[in-house]
Order: sequence, then C-alpha cells, then structure tokens
Amino acid sequence: MREIGHFIGGKHVAGTSGRTADVFNPATGEVQAKVSLASVSELRAAVENAKAAQPKWAATNPQRRARVFFKFVELLNKHMDELAELLSQEHGKTVEDSKGDIVRGLEVCEFVCGIPHLQKGEFTEGAGPAIDMYSMRQPVGIGAGITPFNFPAMIPMWMFAPAIACGNAFILKPSERDPSVPLRLAELMIEAGLPAGILNVVNGDKAAVDAILTDPDIGAVTFVGSTPIARYVYGTAAMNGKRAQCFGGAKNHMIIMPDADMDQAVNALMGAGYGSAGERCMAISVAVPVGEETADLLVEKLAPKIESLRIGPYTDDKADMGPVVTKEAHARINGLIDRGVEEGAKLVVDGRGFKLQGYEDGYFVGGTLFDHVTPEMDIYKTEIFGPVLSVVRAKSYEDALSLPMKHEYGNGVAIYTRDGDAARDFASRVNIGMIGINVPIPVPLAYHSFGGWKASSFGDLNQHGTDSIKFWTKTKTITARWPSGIKDGAEFVMPTMK
Ligand code: NAD
Repeated sequence: MREIGHFIGGKHVAGTSGRTADVFNPATGEVQAKVSLASVSELRAAVENAKAAQPKWAATNPQRRARVFFKFVELLNKHMDELAELLSQEHGKTVEDSKGDIVRGLEVCEFVCGIPHLQKGEFTEGAGPAIDMYSMRQPVGIGAGITPFNFPAMIPMWMFAPAIACGNAFILKPSERDPSVPLRLAELMIEAGLPAGILNVVNGDKAAVDAILTDPDIGAVTFVGSTPIARYVYGTAAMNGKRAQCFGGAKNHMIIMPDADMDQAVNALMGAGYGSAGERCMAISVAVPVGEETADLLVEKLAPKIESLRIGPYTDDKADMGPVVTKEAHARINGLIDRGVEEGAKLVVDGRGFKLQGYEDGYFVGGTLFDHVTPEMDIYKTEIFGPVLSVVRAKSYEDALSLPMKHEYGNGVAIYTRDGDAARDFASRVNIGMIGINVPIPVPLAYHSFGGWKASSFGDLNQHGTDSIKFWTKTKTITARWPSGIKDGAEFVMPTMK
C-alpha cells in the first residue's frame, strides 16, 4: 500500500508517528493509500526548517520572489493533466472540474506575480517640518494553512501563494482525504526555484492542527473548512496570540424573480447545485422562487434535468458529477434526505439508493430535489454539502430577501432577474459576503477578495486580492526627521501639527 508522508525542508519525508488514515477512491470505495498523521515533533521539524529558511527569503527582492511564481504557473500548466487526474482520483470530482480547481489556484499565483507592486508601502513627504513618514509591509514570519477536502489545489494556493510571495515561510496542513495534490504542488514550487524550507506540507488530523495552533513560532493561521472547526481554530489561534482568518460552511440561496429568464436560472441551478456533487462552499443549495407561478415552473423544469444527470466516476469524461467524498458523507447526506421526508418537505427527485453498475461500493448519491421546504426544517438550516437542492417558496421579493438575511451562514447568494432596481437593492441590503446577479457561483477572481459573512467567516481579512497581502504582512510606520528640522530644546507636550 502506498504511504503518503510529508514534505519538509524541500524533500519528501516518511511519517514517524505510527498513525495513518486511509485515502479512498470515492468511486469504488477502495483504500488506495495511507496518509501519515503527523505528531507534534514532526510539525516542529517543519517549523524549524521554515525558521531557518525564512529570513533569507524575506530579504530576497520582490522581483525574484515573483519569478518563482511566474515559473510555477508555467509548471502548473505543463502538468495540468497529471495534476487533475491525481486530484480526481482522491476527491472523486470529474477531471474537467479538477482542472477548474487547479486553474482557480493558478490565477492566485498569477496575481502574486505582481508582488513588487502589491507589497509597496506608502510615503508622505513633508508630514511636518523636515519630517517624512513612510510605511513598509514586512512578512509575518511563519504562516500555516489548514485546508478542506473539497478544493485540494485551489485553497492551498489561495493560502501559500500570497504568504510566500510576501516573504513568509509556510506550513500547509491539507485535508487527510486528498493529500497528494498539495504534496505535488510543493514539489513543483521547489522545481520553480523556491528555496527548501519555505513551503512545507505536514499531513495530519486534529493533533497536527493543535500543534500548529500552539506553536510559538507560527505567527498567522489561515483555515478553510466547516464552521465548528473554523470557530475552534479562530478562537484557539487568537488565544495563542496569532493572527487568524477562518472560513466556514455555507447555505447559499438563489432568488428567482418572476421576471427572470427561467431557462437561464434552471441551467444555473443545475451547475451550481449539482456540479462537484454539491461539495462546494459556493454551491447553491436553496432555490427561492418568488410567487407560486415562478415556483411551479421552476420545479417543473428542474425535475427532469435532475433525473437525467449523468453521474459517474472521474474516468467517465461525460459525467456531470461524481461520487461524494467518503462513506460518512454518503451516510450523512442520505440521512438528511430521510430527515427532509420526515419533516414534511416534498421529495420531488430522490437520489437515495442511486447505484452505478460496476461501482456498487462507490459513494454515489443521485441528484435530489425537495420542494415546499420551510425555514424551520433541519434540511434548510443544515449545510448538507451534497447534491441536494431545496426549494423554499417566497410570496414576495421582501419575503425572499429575508431568507438569506436570517440564515446563520453568509457565504454567497444569487439573484436572477432582469430588473436592475431589484438587483441593486438586493446587493445593497443582503448581509452576505459574495453576491451574484444572474451569476450562480459568484466566486471573486484572484485580484478581488474571497470571503463570507456571519458564521461563514471568522476574522476580518479575506482570502486573496489585496486583503491577502494585508493578512500576510505587518505594517511598520517610520517617522523620520532630518537635523534641519530639529528645534533646540526638549519638547514635553504631545507633538501635534499645529
Ligand atoms: P472539515 O472542517 O472537516 O476539515 C477542514 C480541516 O480541518 C481539515 O484539514 C481537517 O483535517 C481539519 N480538522 C477536522 N476536524 C478537526 C478538529 N476537530 N480539530 C482540528 N482540525 C480539524 O471540513 P471538510 O469536510 O474537509 O470540508 C468541507 C467544509 O469546508 C464545508 O463545511 C464547506 O462549506 C467548507 N468550505 C468552506 C469554504 C469557504 O471558503 N468558506 C471553502 C471550501 C470549503
């Protein structure tokens, strides 16, 4: 059985803790590898390597740091097929979808190629008599990132690209479900010219995460995963004096106004609800048609499309979606569908019991549609993270707007309408981080910032965009006065600009 270890100090190292986790092929249910789960001392070895390498990297001029990313982007493109295949093998999503995962990360690497410009400080000439004032953005030192299973390429790159470009060393703790792509990315960064020790990958579970959160040399922690763990990581990191940004779960709504182009809205819901088997934090899991007529038409058009979804292993290049990630996820999603039936929602398309010939032990769930879901139901309140879409019927625009507003989560939301006034009002009033107007999955591009509100995000700076440069640097402000501006005698009062 293949054993997946760690990547420390620029090379692969085998795990020594004696603890491992199974890595499955979600399409067959077979164990395809064992991943080592790091102990505190293994995490510490990564920190020591990072500590030794970081000062020289921080002192490397920003153009040279950028050049590593120019080369890395080239390597990502060169190895795209291989990376996508590796990703699909462990995650289960289709190869084309895996390419999307990689490209969204690659775009963040392209963004940080501009680090010489992005990391510039500010300068004020003549802030007082012969006084100049300027600021610098210096790296935090050592950063760590803890990532979820659902984007094993994009999310590690969201994190390590800006951190490293800013002059930090980085320790990545990937999801134990699909650890191979993050390791391969670290190898490619070395091939691109990154010095050893600047990017380390430590595989593991809670023990590795806790070692990160209490390590005295790690200055900043970035996390993406479920809300309970995001809350825990944020609190523990802050208690240990670290800077933290932690992104959690979601329940994304799509409002369909009566004037929307219904075919466009239906296609958008199909892709956003069922792409990647619903395992995206920006997946749409709640459709909110406004008015009974809109709702009836929406359900009538959605149902046959959901029934004819092509579900298959990643090797089926015509598949719309693959299996869900684990046996536990499979059981949890089916359990929530049972719960929706018990709660009285109308099950229009039932994905339970979906079986694929030749892949009977795979973790497949068929596309599922509930109608007449209400806000009190568990299937509305809970993040299902599977191919299950709930229709909540709204009487009016205000009624529709109040649903995402009152929901615990605040990651993404979309509105489908031709009415510019309604769209503008919606974007202005809704208390959600990322808004789509006739766009179902409004994931901001690399040069804007990604982040939700409410229980979808803890911390004040988002992923990528200029927020990431702020997160990965500390501001230092210098006030300089030259002798020509110094008056004789001591000044005892607080200096002000009179
Ligand atoms: P998860 O919370 O189970 O795991 C995320 C990471 O935390 C993993 O690296 C895991 O090893 C670690 N972890 C798990 N349990 C832990 C514990 N008790 N203590 C410390 N660390 C622990 O999440 P997942 O199942 O891998 O990913 C799916 C979740 O991630 C969904 O809720 C999804 O919405 C969310 N997500 C959010 C975003 C976003 O940007 N908001 C993006 C992608 C995924």
